[in-house]
Amino acid sequence: MKEDLQHLISLQRIDASLASASIQKQEVPGKIARLDQNFDFLRERVDEEKRRLDELLKEHRAKEDSLKRGIEHLKKTKERLLEVKTNKEYQAMLKEIDGIVKKNEEIEDEIISKLEEIDAARNSLKVREAELAEFRLRHDKERKYLESEMSRIDNETAFMMKDIEIVREKIDSDILKQYDRIKAKRNGSAVAPVWKGVCEGCHMNLPPQMCNELQKSTEIVQCPFCSRIIYWDDRGENG
Ligand SMILES: [Zn+2]
Repeated sequence: MKEDLQHLISLQRIDASLASASIQKQEVPGKIARLDQNFDFLRERVDEEKRRLDELLKEHRAKEDSLKRGIEHLKKTKERLLEVKTNKEYQAMLKEIDGIVKKNEEIEDEIISKLEEIDAARNSLKVREAELAEFRLRHDKERKYLESEMSRIDNETAFMMKDIEIVREKIDSDILKQYDRIKAKRNGSAVAPVWKGVCEGCHMNLPPQMCNELQKSTEIVQCPFCSRIIYWDDRGENG
């Protein structure tokens, strides 16, 4: 029996490691997804700023075209000035020319402010692109690490399952059934040491009589409170 108990303790230790490896493995895809999400966010921001810059360049070209037309219009109007016969017509023409000049000046101002906007957009894009490049390096590195973690956990899991199989083969099948039943009911903890008369599974004081028996027993004993398989643990104080 003492041997079974040793095996049960080993089994519980490996079972616990397996459970925590499984939790770790479940967390990895989420971590990868979050990493990818952050990367996508930065990439979309760069794309957004590129679109904005394209938009500004298009607007700038339209203004340049509009100015070109304005200059052409001014030239033609000035040419018509030479053909004018009356003073009234001449005055009207001057007024028209004045209007065209003002309009062209307005367009020139708009072009200048558009160019300033383009400069600012270019600078901002440069900063965002640098951020993205930096994050890409970190992203690739972390992603590689997480993927290697995944395969490390897979390897460890395979080893642990093999170990579990080996240990289980050494344990009496009825005791094993008992272990599995308690483990399922007690959230993975089926075996608990008793130290100084206290079951460390449920932290209850065991009756003194039971403690005496437990120290001598060669049978499987269960805690009367939590039903875990218990064993006397003097932590070297009496051994
Ligand atoms: Zn207990």
